[in-house]
Amino acid sequence: MARTKKEGGHKYIFVVGGVMSGVGKGIAAASIGKLLTARGLTVNLVKIDPYLNVDAGTMNPIEHGEVFVLDSGLETDQDMGNYERFLGRDLGPDDYMTSGMVYRSVIDRERNLGYGGRCVEAVPHVRDEIVDRLKRSAELAKSDVTVVEIGGTLGDFSNALFIDAARVMHLQHPSDVVFVMVSYLPVPGTLGEMKTKPTQNAMRELNSYGVQADILIARSTHSLDKRRKEKLAISCNVQPDMIISAPDVDSIYDVPLNFERDKLSEILLESLGLEGKHEADLSEWKAFVDKTHNGNTSVKIGIVGKYFDTGDFVLSDAYISVIEAIKYSAYALGTKAELHWLNAKDYEKNPESVSELKEYDGVIVPGGFGETGIEGKIAAIKFARENKIPYFGLCYGMQLMTVEYARNVAGLEGAHTTEINPETPHPVIMILPEQVEKLAKKDYGGSMRLGAYPADLVDGTIARESYGTAKISERHRHRYEVNPEYVEQLTKAGMIFSGVSPDRRLMEIAELPKEQHPFMLGTQFHPELRARPLAPHPLFTAFIKAALKR
Ligand code: GLN
Repeated sequence: MARTKKEGGHKYIFVVGGVMSGVGKGIAAASIGKLLTARGLTVNLVKIDPYLNVDAGTMNPIEHGEVFVLDSGLETDQDMGNYERFLGRDLGPDDYMTSGMVYRSVIDRERNLGYGGRCVEAVPHVRDEIVDRLKRSAELAKSDVTVVEIGGTLGDFSNALFIDAARVMHLQHPSDVVFVMVSYLPVPGTLGEMKTKPTQNAMRELNSYGVQADILIARSTHSLDKRRKEKLAISCNVQPDMIISAPDVDSIYDVPLNFERDKLSEILLESLGLEGKHEADLSEWKAFVDKTHNGNTSVKIGIVGKYFDTGDFVLSDAYISVIEAIKYSAYALGTKAELHWLNAKDYEKNPESVSELKEYDGVIVPGGFGETGIEGKIAAIKFARENKIPYFGLCYGMQLMTVEYARNVAGLEGAHTTEINPETPHPVIMILPEQVEKLAKKDYGGSMRLGAYPADLVDGTIARESYGTAKISERHRHRYEVNPEYVEQLTKAGMIFSGVSPDRRLMEIAELPKEQHPFMLGTQFHPELRARPLAPHPLFTAFIKAALKR
């Protein structure tokens, strides 16, 4: 079909994946967003997860990776974290959808007679709901372009309706919708040659939906050569200059720069009939990427957690925002972070082994749930406190820092969180009152204290100095909190609650006086969810600074 350019409607870019999962479709979508932003356009990114969970909040991190929480409190896939970090902007609740979410609203509407007694079906009703949601996300974001990543791989049953929704949007507004296929080109060891056939088949699969990709991103271990580019162009029905070579790179942050070498931002703008406000301005990004490659001094950080039973691969997924947040602050301070994964279960079995922490410049206990490894984490916290090793506790890490202090400094023997021991004589961490009923009803989904809440900082504290402001807003995901009845005792014993909710009911940050410990601080919220490559988080920066001094 001949395209009428500059139709002027809202622009959508759909990113689909061919051949197999895990080839970096999310990073490709994020990089597309980054490049258009660098051209002066405003962009929002949407992630579609085809599973039936209504959100990502109920999934085990070992299985699914980190749960990324938005300001709105929506619990989403970790790709949303990459999106926010690449774009440098907050995304909204309509920028994420799952099949479960979509079906649920269709079914709710049907139960309310919202379809006027008609038979409700996947096509058109569920598909139309998807289209409505995409339009709403664009409207709310007030962006120039919406980039939508359709999760899963071409050929899956579960993402077919989403691809069909994209097809319909393209049919209605051909010049406003562009399709990008991110595909994989294997280089089998026995052949030593890059094979294009799986990608050809993936494009055919996409064609079977009535969709032709305009742009092909060719992921592989190697760059595309001219011959294969021509072959792909002919067989996949894509112009050769619309094929982007995307070889493996050292760091995900290289990807936008790599894409731009093949002029991706220009191709996208042209395909959408848009004009950029200026040439792609990637100077700040480049300066950041340089730091990821250079810099030789390093700071050794131990992360004491439990979601890494199946090895390094899963580990980096479960704590991805924490890892990235540490790196950004280290880069900003001209150093590199060397991260080590310390299994809390090992410390629990063998408490003496925590003494290995003296080799570290800093220790982090990140967020977590449940009993596994908990005494190991508490032992690690005690060791860090007694040996003045900079310590940063994130959510559970703050709660357990409070438990440790209560037991070993405030003299509250047997102190605990009621999450683990409801019978503890000293419930220093207890369930939030509004959570009691929810848990009794097994209402687990999306029911924690979630999303952005404000807090006030106390003058003269590490928190106040690090942020440089007296009021903050940070993202939460918890059911338990510091028990208000123990605040006085803990304070008398030396703990400072340096961040509190505006109504003074909730303790949001706990720390020890600078004179006693170089950096012993925990947050009830998750600061890692707000750290960005070009805007590192002040608390992570303060922690790394303290670690560097060691
Ligand atoms: N399990 C704790 C709670 O629910 C901490 C949660 C977390 O670390 N995100 O309060």
